[in-house]
Amino acid sequence: MGISKANLAPLGTTLSTWMEPPWASTNCLAMVSPSPTPPVARERDASALKNRSKTRSKSSEEIPVPLSATFANRADPRFILAFSIPTNSKGMKILCREPVSVWNGSYSHPLGVPYDEQDSMLFFDNVLVPWDRVFMLYESGPLLRDFAAGINFTEWANLCRIHERMKLMTAVATMIAEAIGVLEYREVAAKVGEMTMYTQMWHHAMEGVEHGAHMGEGGVMALGSMAGMNIYFAQTSARMVQLLREVSGSGLIMQPSENDLANPELRPYLDRYMRGKSVDAEYKSRLYRLAHDLAVSSSGMRQEVYEYWHGGDPNRNRINLLRGYDQSDIRARIEELVSRPLPHGESGV
Ligand SMILES: Cc1cc2nc3c(=O)[nH]c(=O)nc-3n(C[C@H](O)[C@H](O)[C@H](O)COP(=O)(O)OP(=O)(O)OC[C@H]3O[C@@H](n4cnc5c(N)ncnc54)[C@H](O)[C@@H]3O)c2cc1C
Repeated sequence: MGISKANLAPLGTTLSTWMEPPWASTNCLAMVSPSPTPPVARERDASALKNRSKTRSKSSEEIPVPLSATFANRADPRFILAFSIPTNSKGMKILCREPVSVWNGSYSHPLGVPYDEQDSMLFFDNVLVPWDRVFMLYESGPLLRDFAAGINFTEWANLCRIHERMKLMTAVATMIAEAIGVLEYREVAAKVGEMTMYTQMWHHAMEGVEHGAHMGEGGVMALGSMAGMNIYFAQTSARMVQLLREVSGSGLIMQPSENDLANPELRPYLDRYMRGKSVDAEYKSRLYRLAHDLAVSSSGMRQEVYEYWHGGDPNRNRINLLRGYDQSDIRARIEELVSRPLPHGESGV
């Protein structure tokens, strides 16, 4: 066993979509030390020049850099920028994190090995972005209007992903509790029930998003509001991981590997001492390895960090949610209520 390394040249020319952006212009502008620094370092006849950093995966040949919701809300046109360029563009530097998919030859990682989503930090060192790769610059045009109006089908894919994750965690917790014969205990059942509640709430919310679908401006269907759902999962995910740990006990750590199961000297002991209530040692250890990859391993913990942060700072998102939340109707009713003496019972009764 060992790790083999090879230098691979990223291919950046095959995946491309020809665009004729209406924003193409021939202006020449220079920014004067703004803070925070807008991403466009210099604009010239043939290009926009970028000088910044961003977290993005390096696994594709093309890097889309969409408009950040935070930047979009900044009401400063210098932050309005979206484009896509080949991964091997001159000046682009890519820093990858340590992989969580490295298999050490014995223990199984059913999620980490096949599904490691390599995170990376991109450094744009005066990268030239050709005009035909620019989707928007300085003005969002109809795109941002449509975003605000609810053209949100890409986010729908994220809601589906989260729903599957919640279902997976709840089912694994249920099956582990059954495998070790503790599901009938009141405390354990209540914990798995709490996981089920979160999963069901998510399902109801998704149905609400579908129910709120409507025809938008220009005859394009838009989904209903999903404001708040990502923030809800950012805080719920950690709770579900914790519940899975509590239900599973120490078995999350101490399980035989596939090599141990195949070892004829060890196997009789595994079959005798490491089986479950009415399940054999193979079934139980594999199920636990799945739970391990959800609630303990590097891959599982990276995913947990991802769920908390990938949509941006949950506190910032909560504040944005509050600021955009229309309370005018209920506030008017409260103000009307408190504008005169409140009703009370007869004194002394
Ligand atoms: C696995 C992973 C995947 C990601 N994927 C993406 C992605 O696909 N696209 C993308 O755009 N981003 C992605 N991100 C980045 C994510 O948007 C950021 O992590 C997030 O916005 C928080 O920024 P930060 O990490 O720089 O933390 P910081 O902003 O440095 O925050 C660190 C701490 O300081 C606090 N803090 C920061 N500023 C203030 C302040 N002004 N007042 C009070 N407290 C403050 C925060 O609450 C936090 O506790 C990803 C992050 C991770 C970990």
